Amino acid sequence: MKGKSFTVELKCFFCDCSLEGVAEKEYVSGDMLECQNCHDLNDYDALIDVAAEEGKNLVADYAQQEIEKMLKKAFKK
Ligand SMILES: [Zn+2]
Repeated sequence: MKGKSFTVELKCFFCDCSLEGVAEKEYVSGDMLECQNCHDLNDYDALIDVAAEEGKNLVADYAQQEIEKMLKKAFKK
C-alpha cells in the first residue's frame, strides 16, 4: 500500500468533537488531553487505543476495495 496514507482523528470521548488542535502538542502515555470544546479531560492512552482501532478498520476497508477491484478485473473478459 505505497503512497496511501490514513489519517485518524482523535475525538473527545465526551462531546465527540475533534481534538485536532490538541494533538499538535506532544503527549506521552498517562497524559490527559483537555477538550477545547467541553473542557473535559480525555485519557491519552484510551484515545490512542481508539485511534489505532479506527486505523485498522480504515486499512481493512481499503484492502477490501482493492481486492474487489482485482476480482472484477479478473472476471471481466
Ligand atoms: Zn469535548
